[in-house]
Amino acid sequence: MIPKSFIQDLLNRLDIVDVVERYVPLKKAGANFVACCPFHNEKSPSFTVSQTKQFYHCFGCGAHGTAIGFVMEHAGLGYVDAIEELAHSVGLEVPHERQAAGEAYQKVAPNLYEVMQTATRYYREQLKLSQRAINYLKQRGLSGEIAAKFGIGYAPDGWQNLAAAFPNYQDATLSETGLVVTFDEAPAKGVAKRFDRFRDRIMFPIINVRGQVIGFGGRVLDKGEPPQGGRREVTGTSGSTSAQPKYLNSPETPLFEKGRELYGLFQAQKAIRAEQRVLVVEGYMDVVALAQHGVEYVVATLGTATTPYHVQKLLRLTEHIVFCFDGDKAGQRAAWRALENALPYLQDGKRISFLFLPVEHDPDSFIREFGKAVFEQRMQEAMPLSAYLLREISAELDLRSQEGRNQLLQRAKPLLTSIIAPTTALLLRKEVAALSGVSQAELEALYEIKPVVRAPRIAFQKAGRAPPSAHRLLLQCLIAQPELGQQVPGEWHGQGADADAVSAVLTVLRETDFTLSSPTLAQLFQGTGHEKTLAAAQADMLNWGESFDVSAEFAGLINKFNEGQRRQQFQALQAKGLSNLTDPEREQYLLLLQRS
Ligand SMILES: [Zn+2]
Repeated sequence: MIPKSFIQDLLNRLDIVDVVERYVPLKKAGANFVACCPFHNEKSPSFTVSQTKQFYHCFGCGAHGTAIGFVMEHAGLGYVDAIEELAHSVGLEVPHERQAAGEAYQKVAPNLYEVMQTATRYYREQLKLSQRAINYLKQRGLSGEIAAKFGIGYAPDGWQNLAAAFPNYQDATLSETGLVVTFDEAPAKGVAKRFDRFRDRIMFPIINVRGQVIGFGGRVLDKGEPPQGGRREVTGTSGSTSAQPKYLNSPETPLFEKGRELYGLFQAQKAIRAEQRVLVVEGYMDVVALAQHGVEYVVATLGTATTPYHVQKLLRLTEHIVFCFDGDKAGQRAAWRALENALPYLQDGKRISFLFLPVEHDPDSFIREFGKAVFEQRMQEAMPLSAYLLREISAELDLRSQEGRNQLLQRAKPLLTSIIAPTTALLLRKEVAALSGVSQAELEALYEIKPVVRAPRIAFQKAGRAPPSAHRLLLQCLIAQPELGQQVPGEWHGQGADADAVSAVLTVLRETDFTLSSPTLAQLFQGTGHEKTLAAAQADMLNWGESFDVSAEFAGLINKFNEGQRRQQFQALQAKGLSNLTDPEREQYLLLLQRS
């Protein structure tokens, strides 16, 4: 957990205009700044940043948040990573109260990043020196420009080459980053106890979204190519090219967690936004080859199946994910795993599709043979997730027989029940029900799931159209000046989403002694059930003129509330019948009578 007080400190030191400007050029427009929205396609700017109120809002797509929210959305970072990133930019150190559940967060010594950087430089220099490696890349159709863009290098053959790059080869950071392998006992005679993990491999640096190298993928050079410069692969000093896996990744280290990283994401981010889609492939060579042919919105998983974390990360960046797997059996299995892991994170309005290449191809070979246009045409025709799911669960079943339909229902159950997105779930249930000859209600009863109810949608009102309701205005006053919360009577209550949000805000303010700033308050409600309500309320606030007097509006609201309370008491007493009142009640009645 990151303490609230730190979030407040951080937001105090940041200016959202600076933060947004790092990614999106802003133009001044009246009291605010505007730009074409980075989160949806548009021609005229409806993305608004308020410097005084320290939040952004898009009137087109409803994107909304603080500086922290912006970095999460735009860079596809998780909450903790976004805070780390922003804290780093203003020289703050993030304190952690306790490790948050499920967030495998580890503090990383900054010098580990430097070690990786040094290694990257070394491998790149070695590539320039190895004609054989250069020829290999040329043969794969890669230009020097693409090699540079991806920081591709070469780890020469030999056991302790990195000793030339690091003054102390015995340093612990070399094993902590996975660059060297250590054995207590030497594995073979004449082999050192500590040696380079990557030997005679093309090196692909794995870069996080902040642009830091966190790991490497190493690929062996293809066999059977005419060795250049009279050097044969098998005569290398280590003989390491024999019986080595084709691909070798860094192990899990404090910097590198396979299931959370995507190769190429750093380089692809811009293209993903521009194209509004991302292609997920299996290997780094595929990413690089596709980029070479102008398909730049591509990332690869790193020797793991697509994880739920990957899906979430990508869905934050774009509306449409296309998974592209090899046409073989392994590719089919990988596709199905991706589908299973994606189901719980589906969102209505976002698309996931599957592209299956011919059996003999991978993306690299396919684009080299057919080019960009044909490849993108195939992408257009990629199979939607729902069609893929239905195809797979009904495969080899005879749906004319009762047994077949029964099996279909059994196969579909775990899949359908893991979908949360209401519309997607509804449509798939209807289809499975139709295929198996039962009604939707019967299917839902069978699966013991609640009928799908469309989640209420909060319309983002264009600001300034109707005057806000009293609850909405109260919410806005509290957001604008949280310290006003002290003056809200303890018995305040109301009904509806705005009133619920007011109550929730008051609870948080009371817990924190009314010391929260406005951006911190907004940030704390991100990801909660009140997020949308607060966003809509804040959006209206963009239209408040210079003369808008928050305290006066607030005082008016409180007066009205107190008056309402008095009227209710008065009516209750009246209803009792004056002759039935006790002495104190009669006194109160007279008091209320005078006030009204
Ligand atoms: Zn937008």
